[in-house]
Amino acid sequence: MSARPPISFEFFPPRDAGGRERLVTNVAQKLALLEPEFFSVTYGAGGSTRDGTRQTIASLIEAGHNAAPHMSMGVDDRADIIKMLDDYAALGVTRIVALRGDQPSGFSANRFANNAEALVRLIREHSGDRFQVEVAAYPETHPDAKGAAQDLEFFKRKVEAGANGAITQYFYTADAYEDFLNRCAKAAITVPIVPGIMPITSLEGVLRFSEKCGADVPRWLRYVLTDLQDDEQATVDFTVEYLSRLGERLIALGAPGLHFYTLNRWGATTRICQNLA
Ligand code: FAD
Repeated sequence: MSARPPISFEFFPPRDAGGRERLVTNVAQKLALLEPEFFSVTYGAGGSTRDGTRQTIASLIEAGHNAAPHMSMGVDDRADIIKMLDDYAALGVTRIVALRGDQPSGFSANRFANNAEALVRLIREHSGDRFQVEVAAYPETHPDAKGAAQDLEFFKRKVEAGANGAITQYFYTADAYEDFLNRCAKAAITVPIVPGIMPITSLEGVLRFSEKCGADVPRWLRYVLTDLQDDEQATVDFTVEYLSRLGERLIALGAPGLHFYTLNRWGATTRICQNLA
């Protein structure tokens, strides 16, 4: 088996200070034993977690971790974003995950006025090379795209705007990643593309999430998970084994890193990383 590449872990901002304390002193501390390159913290649609994301990032940095905030165009205007960039620089942040963000309902009339490409341009314009900038990529194609070719074109534009690398939406089929890497190579996109891995703890949860973000849960996997759905431990055990094998295939395909959507839990992610060590 190939050596495990760098890993990173994604959190969402807890609702309150107690949750933040538990995340940083318990979950992050346990995951830190795996020596991740960084923790990232999501940013809620429409700026709904603006303070929570910032506070979680500050707590992680204070605890000695490398922490990368997600930022999105959402409903923040230019001045808000510039303020956040300066604030994050002062906190010691060196990496940002730049996104359009999931659109709040009712925002659709203006859907593409704000996109990740514009945010990357703004970061570079205001902060130069202060931050390593990651953008999102979609091996199975973003649900808003008219097709795979158009999606790739928009991805290329974000990279050309100044992104250093990309993290993919999660997927459960290695072929999707391999095909995406091949298409990127043909389109002369050369930045590192780190696959996103999402451990499954419940069938209902993964189906709901995947429906929204356009990730494919293959038929065979849905059937296996349906058989296990009344037993969370069996579901986790199965997905740890399956995602460890998926991780091995991604590493063999040359994945430059692995990014885990932890959902603020450490158990399954730790087991997968240990299997890949
Ligand atoms: P963009 O790259 O701007 O665009 C997405 C799609 O819109 C493109 O694929 C294309 O089809 C279309 N598009 C782009 N530009 C144009 C244009 N000029 N004209 C027409 N169509 C266009 N969401 C959150 O709200 N908060 C988070 O913290 C968060 N973190 C994420 C982290 C990762 C690693 C990933 C993969 C996703 C994350 N998301 C998050 C979800 C993401 O915000 C959504 O998928 C969103 O719908 C698209 O964001 P994007 O940055 O990919 O957008």
